[in-house]
Amino acid sequence: EEVDYKTDSQYGAAMRAKNEAVSDFAKSKTIKEQREYLPVYSVRDELLTVIRDNKIVIIVGETGSGKTTQLTQYLHEDGYSKEGLIGCTQPRRVAAVSVAKRVAEEMGVELSSKVGYSIRFEDCTSKETIIKYMTDGVLLRESLIDSELNQYSAIVMDEAHERSLNTDVLFGILKKVAQKRRDIKLIITSATMNAERFADFFGNVPIFTIPGRTFPVQQYFSKTIQEDYVDAAVKQALTIHLQNGPGDILIFMTGQEDIEATCYLIAERLQKLEGVTPMLVLPIYSQLPSDVQAKIFEASEFRKCVVATNIAETSLTLDGVKFVIDTGLCKLKVYNPKIGMDALQITPISQANANQRSGRAGRTGPGICYRLYTDTCYRTELLENNIPEIQRTNLSNVVLLLKSLNVDNLLEFDFMDPPPQETILNSMYQLWILGALDNTGNLTELGRKMVEFPLDPPLSKMLIMSDQFGCSQEILTIVSMLSVPSIFFRPKGREQESDAAREKFFVVESDHLTLLHVYDQWKMHNYDQEWATKHFVHGKALKKVREVRSQLLDIMKQLKMEMNSVGTDWDQVRKAICSGYFHNAAKIKGIGEYVNLRTGIPCVLHPSSAIYGLGFTPDYVVYHELVMTTKEYMQCVTAVDPHWLAEMGPMFFSVKEAYGQNSNVLKRDIEKKGLREMEKEMEAEIRRKTED
Ligand code: ADP
Ligand code: MG
Repeated sequence: EEVDYKTDSQYGAAMRAKNEAVSDFAKSKTIKEQREYLPVYSVRDELLTVIRDNKIVIIVGETGSGKTTQLTQYLHEDGYSKEGLIGCTQPRRVAAVSVAKRVAEEMGVELSSKVGYSIRFEDCTSKETIIKYMTDGVLLRESLIDSELNQYSAIVMDEAHERSLNTDVLFGILKKVAQKRRDIKLIITSATMNAERFADFFGNVPIFTIPGRTFPVQQYFSKTIQEDYVDAAVKQALTIHLQNGPGDILIFMTGQEDIEATCYLIAERLQKLEGVTPMLVLPIYSQLPSDVQAKIFEASEFRKCVVATNIAETSLTLDGVKFVIDTGLCKLKVYNPKIGMDALQITPISQANANQRSGRAGRTGPGICYRLYTDTCYRTELLENNIPEIQRTNLSNVVLLLKSLNVDNLLEFDFMDPPPQETILNSMYQLWILGALDNTGNLTELGRKMVEFPLDPPLSKMLIMSDQFGCSQEILTIVSMLSVPSIFFRPKGREQESDAAREKFFVVESDHLTLLHVYDQWKMHNYDQEWATKHFVHGKALKKVREVRSQLLDIMKQLKMEMNSVGTDWDQVRKAICSGYFHNAAKIKGIGEYVNLRTGIPCVLHPSSAIYGLGFTPDYVVYHELVMTTKEYMQCVTAVDPHWLAEMGPMFFSVKEAYGQNSNVLKRDIEKKGLREMEKEMEAEIRRKTED
């Protein structure tokens, strides 16, 4: 049905009467009553029987039916926690934390006691813990230490339909675990109906379906293609608020920046309208501090308008949503062959996502979904299903992990959907460049050490190399700072003030050193939160950095690395950075403009870079990552000496020294080696290795 929803006000009036009849359930019922109202409760006993009779079970149920919060508790109530831990994996950190909190509350226990969670750099469990929520990445790393995962009596692999990279690898690993262990229960849950693939993969295991309880959702498509989805969503939200009775609004946006802009615009425009009831505008995305995240679950006297990433699609359930606004977009990590690495890209969602999103409006009563794209676009441009992450991203970390699990031939690993061979080769090539694999594709000493760190390969390489440059303390801080997003904040209306504060920290040769400087200053001020806030630095982020730092330090000590410091001889620190990032080297082309030395891709210095403080732009730099917005921006940049590049990336670079034509000044330049030959040789070798 195609209507111009912008002029559709009669429908709103009709809906109002209906909506008012739906009471706010969460506010009036006890936790026990809430639990018993969930669809999964009506099939609790049958479900437990199926689990008792089968080692592996696939469970399908609509979002909100109680899979994530109830299954672990049912398993506990049925005695499985006597035999070991009950684990539940989540593709998203936010979901792991939020769900653990909820379950602790339902069981009336403190978080981290009987119920806990574990995500990268944050373990909130104890000896008492019997139900443990964690990211799939955490369980994957645990399998490195104990390949049979013996401490678990049951594992729920939640949100399998998401097909996250780590979940897909876990599929293969857990399938083996289940073959080896008689005393384990494996439960795979999915929000979507096409669960046959899962059942097939695990060997024709039973599929248990939780009967749904959903209300009809009216769909409206946009008549025209929306140029500006933020603006379109803002307008739609305000229209709903002005023309409809009670019912919360859920907007699906792409990511943090868009979400913040949307929230800001809605609040701003609401303020300008007179005599309008207030509306609570709340953002939700993974990097949001968890106390702010929790707000979306709090009861409110006024209409809530939650602006979310696709985290609200299936992993978090908000009761009371009656209106969904769907931009039709999400941010996905996609391997970009042009730049040879993953980049977050704004991508159209799939039809499956679109249906999930609209379903969120029909949880507690009939709802409406406004799609900010056309019907034709839905039918012809959106893919039917998601492309699993394993088929679209860089696999360096997975390759490293599998290699250390002694999976020698990666093409033989039991993937549900094997990644393209090219992707595997490419990842192996990147690991070879870093020295993690040798010429025959086997893990080197360095590679073995790299696996120990829960970091991306270049970061762990830089950390491992640092003691040889005498600066492991400094690099440890820098790596920790890089593991936490957004250190600086730049509030609206105070941009100049906050920029000036940031500039005071600048170490002009390097954004990395600037980060180091911020941390050291904070430390000098006794890790004071107020000091941080005063300097426009996120105090909470710094606190997190400190925790990450101490965890990485533990690993370094286990590896018997030397802890040393160069004081202020920061050239050594820049060298160490170069050792992990020479593959991201760029050469100057104009002011602030560079080209990647290997690929020739143009990339520009970010306006916020400390390098501008130099007064000139250095000839050679390395960068942490490329961020693609309007241009390809280098994020976190350090000036380097071309000789370092030749020294640390001999497979790529050599130094050319020559006198200029009209001068007797010795010019040093770096040139790209005849790399194709080497690349081909390496590729052939790896191919031989993986094919036989
Ligand atoms: P499923 O996994 O099947 O999507 P969940 O177990 O996540 O379902 O959700 C069941 C119910 O628990 C939902 O009604 C949801 O609103 C509620 N719930 C989940 N997390 C929280 C929370 N942190 N606070 C309040 N309610 C929550
Ligand atoms: Mg769930």
